[in-house]
Amino acid sequence: MHNKQRDKIKKNGLNPLKKWIILIFSLFVSSIVAGCTQARENTDDNATQSLVNKSEKTQILTTFLPVYLFTKAVAGDVANVEILVPPGTDVHDYQATPDNVRAIATAKILVKNGLGMEEFLTDTVKNAENSQLVEIDASKGIKVIDDDIVTAGEKTEKDHNHKHEHSQGNPHVWLDPVFAKQQVINIRDSLIVADPENKDIYQTNAAAYIQELENLNNDFQQTLKKTPNCTFITFHDAFIHLAKRYQLQQIAVVELPEDQLSPTDVQTAINAVKKYKVKALFSEPGVDNKLLNSLSQDLNLTLYPLNSLENGEKNPQYYFQAMKSNLENLSAGCK
Ligand SMILES: [Zn+2]
Repeated sequence: MHNKQRDKIKKNGLNPLKKWIILIFSLFVSSIVAGCTQARENTDDNATQSLVNKSEKTQILTTFLPVYLFTKAVAGDVANVEILVPPGTDVHDYQATPDNVRAIATAKILVKNGLGMEEFLTDTVKNAENSQLVEIDASKGIKVIDDDIVTAGEKTEKDHNHKHEHSQGNPHVWLDPVFAKQQVINIRDSLIVADPENKDIYQTNAAAYIQELENLNNDFQQTLKKTPNCTFITFHDAFIHLAKRYQLQQIAVVELPEDQLSPTDVQTAINAVKKYKVKALFSEPGVDNKLLNSLSQDLNLTLYPLNSLENGEKNPQYYFQAMKSNLENLSAGCK
């Protein structure tokens, strides 16, 4: 095209300066035209791409934070992973919203922790009437020992479990890195069955996360073997599996983290400290509880934070950050 242009200019017999002006001008115009065409093509491409992404990406719903973190770690960017119980909301007493029902109605896959943790789910799934929905139970095949909560107070095991039925054992399995690994494997295998096209990605992503979980388990083993049989008190019955895995003893004073402890709870903690060689008190991070603080002073035991991961950041790496802090605090408390 440019040669043709030059030929034309030659034929017309223009003087050299005019030739150059015309040549530069025509180059300028053609580059603008080319640029515009290019830009329009790019925009069209992007629009098509995002439409494809939106319609083709698998819609995966998860129930609450740990399940979200593990699913997001396995799915990466090939699926849209959403969470039903937003961080900051208590999953134990969660009431489903109409938005939750709508989300389940259009999702392809729903991943739950299972073991009776998500009491709100059965009715919500029923109301969503999504016959195509694939439900994944992350705890499938995980054998949890019956809740043998040790308390020093008047409470019986039955009273302890009134808020959610632990008929299938204590559901806080994600806090044990070995059970967490099994959950990631379950999620990976179920995602591959539900969405075989992305099999390789699920496998690669899961392998990297499992490697980190194995390293974490190793860190816990190496660190906590220095303080065998360490007995600690929690105000959330969430760490029983973690304690069993690393030969520690959790004494749960209450099942759920409470804003205000009752005088009975305080007495239970005092009794436990008298009865067992309790090394430390643990409460949820960010909880500024005056009663807990004064209790720890009265008992002469340091109060450390221990994160149940029911709340926190929506980044798969958050699991490792929080668990490493837990290990540091357990190790400090058990010293
Ligand atoms: Zn809990």
